[in-house]
Amino acid sequence: MTKRILIIYTGGTIGMQRFPQGYAPVSGFKELMQERFNYSQHAQLPEFDLTELSPLIDSANLQPSHWNLIAGQIIESYSSYDGFIVLHGTDTMAYSASALSFMLQGLDKPVIFTGSQIPLAELRNDALDNLITSLLLAAFHPVNEVCIYFNGKLLRGNRSSKVKATGFDAFDSPNFPWLGQVGLNIELHNKLFIEQGQQNFHNPVFVGKAVTVLPIFPGLCADVADAICHAPGVKGLIIRSYGVGNLPDQNQGLLDALHSASDQGCIIVNISQCLQAEVFQGQYACSSVLNEIGVISGGDMTVEAAFSKLHFLLATEKDRASIKQMMRDDLAGELDS
Ligand code: ASP
Repeated sequence: MTKRILIIYTGGTIGMQRFPQGYAPVSGFKELMQERFNYSQHAQLPEFDLTELSPLIDSANLQPSHWNLIAGQIIESYSSYDGFIVLHGTDTMAYSASALSFMLQGLDKPVIFTGSQIPLAELRNDALDNLITSLLLAAFHPVNEVCIYFNGKLLRGNRSSKVKATGFDAFDSPNFPWLGQVGLNIELHNKLFIEQGQQNFHNPVFVGKAVTVLPIFPGLCADVADAICHAPGVKGLIIRSYGVGNLPDQNQGLLDALHSASDQGCIIVNISQCLQAEVFQGQYACSSVLNEIGVISGGDMTVEAAFSKLHFLLATEKDRASIKQMMRDDLAGELDS
């Protein structure tokens, strides 16, 4: 039976052209694809429709409300297609793939994010392979979750990070094995895929400023910590700590800022700055104070997963205790629980 895929083109380098001020996304991606696919064996490809976000964006301009536009398209046309591809800029692809994994729980079809480091419009590019392989994965392989496909790697979306700005191998999932690799053959590690559950889709209203991030660095002063922790409208805070969740416990101004934010209802989650890590609050004396403050250990989540999960829970749950509990629970394969 003919497979049908919906491609959602949001912008990003894959569909950009060079202008005097630099690369920017342009519309007309379907025509460009058809021109490029003339050189490929398109009879082996599934049929596809393509829809473009309006306006197209450089993903550096992504806002949480863009997640609604992408998820909305998928939810609206879910029964009409066998799989979905999201063409997205690489800068924030891991945030969007993470967000969609929480918004589209219980998928029984693939949702594959891809993009490229060189636009499809250019002669030498990585776009064509990323696109063709994503189409084949979305149409003919039993992938029932939100993934990123990039340069031969199939990665769980909410375990992925952009790790290189210049190499073609821009993405990795340093804290979780690849779901598959594509070389001479497409090899998928089926045992790693999420077990299919009950379809549970949400497209909630996100409040852009609800979640913020506090990086820990030598010399972080109380004023900066305080301004971030108490910024108007902030309901959730991700701390980017050292190593296994450490922070300078001799910095009383920082501890006071965290304590008062927590007392005022802000949900604080501790994520390591290291790409391969798991947070253990209290392994070192300097981090045990976080347990007293009520900071949640983010375990082995990526910052992109923790950030979008907190946004998702603040937008869908009312009760603070259940948000805290769900931050600790594995909702979509983002966490070793
Ligand atoms: N700035 C671009 C974007 O994220 C980078 C890329 O797509 O590779 O949209």
